[in-house]
Amino acid sequence: MNDTIAAIASGMTASGIGIIRISGPEAFHVLGKIFRTKKAADVEKMKSHTIHYGWITEEGGTSPVDECLVMVMRGPRTYTTEDTVEINCHGGPYVMRRILKLVLASGARSAEPGEFTKRAFLGGRIDLTEAEAVMDIIKARSDDALKSSLAQLSGSVRKIVTHVRSEIMDELAYIEAALDDPEHMDLTGYPEELDQRLDTICGEIGKLLRTFDEGKLIREGILTVILGKPNAGKSSLLNALTGVDRAIVTDIEGTTRDILEEQVELNGITLRVIDTAGIRNARDEIEQIGIGRAREYADRADLILAVFDAARPLDSNDREILSLIRDRKALILLNKSDLPQVLTEEDLTGSCGVPVIKISARELTGMDELAGTIRDMFFKGSLQMNEEAILTNVRHKTALDRTVKSLTYVRQSIQSGMPEDFYSIDLMDAYAALGEILGEDVGDDLVNTIFSKFCMGK
Ligand code: GDP
Repeated sequence: MNDTIAAIASGMTASGIGIIRISGPEAFHVLGKIFRTKKAADVEKMKSHTIHYGWITEEGGTSPVDECLVMVMRGPRTYTTEDTVEINCHGGPYVMRRILKLVLASGARSAEPGEFTKRAFLGGRIDLTEAEAVMDIIKARSDDALKSSLAQLSGSVRKIVTHVRSEIMDELAYIEAALDDPEHMDLTGYPEELDQRLDTICGEIGKLLRTFDEGKLIREGILTVILGKPNAGKSSLLNALTGVDRAIVTDIEGTTRDILEEQVELNGITLRVIDTAGIRNARDEIEQIGIGRAREYADRADLILAVFDAARPLDSNDREILSLIRDRKALILLNKSDLPQVLTEEDLTGSCGVPVIKISARELTGMDELAGTIRDMFFKGSLQMNEEAILTNVRHKTALDRTVKSLTYVRQSIQSGMPEDFYSIDLMDAYAALGEILGEDVGDDLVNTIFSKFCMGK
């Protein structure tokens, strides 16, 4: 960790500003070789956390490469905890690459993906959950995903894990001490007390674990399938949700043959919407495949949006869909409510007990009610509390599951009257599993795998 790294931190498309980031002991020195200010200021003497206007030039030469603002920051109060320089240049891919090349020629090494954040972790500024939150923020596609990632970055998961872990450590220390000094420390009654405390701890972890399903939906989006007979308005609904004319909308029955998946943000919730071919007994082979897949997706979906045409009477296709959504997480959308109504809410609710929402995919009405209903169905309002820890990471979940398992073994040992030193082994396992979440005592392999998924320059 003692060399100096550099990378382009902004996107590689033409944009207003491009950022080249340098971190490590030689960061100021590297900059000094290629940065000129009007007053020929000495880079090495610049005050920490200041911004300077000037030119990036060829090393030693006067030939200018770009006009820049440069931020200089001395460690440890920086992102990586090391000396850091950020060159804000014009955001053209060519000019950014040109400057990076100069930086590399002046003594820095090209950073690996995520290496800046890895240094923040290795430097002890953040733990592994907070490092992972950084990437989640970058990948966030909705308000809720952003909020939960920000909470994690502020230590929401770390705080709970650290707290539980220190309680386990207290027990371990107590048992150890008592076994070492049986004359002065009596363990009578201790197993029962420990059992009580472990019950509380398991409860705390259980509470966090229960947020995982919601967390996953926040992070990945709700897998949503739109079902409906041909011409009910499935493509129109998808277009209304995405706001873009992506799906082909026509009056010819059965034109939506391919399955399209679209990311939709609906009032802060992310839906991964799969638009499928109309459900009906088609003879056409291509259509058949589409329908087969529609059914398959309906089985896997988190949410089914069943679209019905309010201007046409209920037919056998509609009835088939109604039977398909019975007892599922589904919503009935009574579409084309702008037209004279042939089909009513009563025609639909009675048969399957699924809520009905009147919409018009053409006039874009009913969309807020749709969003609100989905939110109530999946999130129970718990997302309003920004500070609350929400588990979104499978790695954390797996480790917490292991913790609970180990603690359950301890409780079983207590119940079957095993000697105290038996508790220690499983308590140690629980302690280690929690440490893994924070990134303590984890192998290089795991750390490298996590950071390799980061983007360049982060
Ligand atoms: P799909 O086969 O279920 O995908 O149906 P489409 O989205 O292709 O819609 C079929 C036809 O119904 C098209 O002519 C749409 O313009 C029309 N349509 C869809 N939604 C509405 C609506 O809310 N109101 C009205 N009046 N027409 C609609």
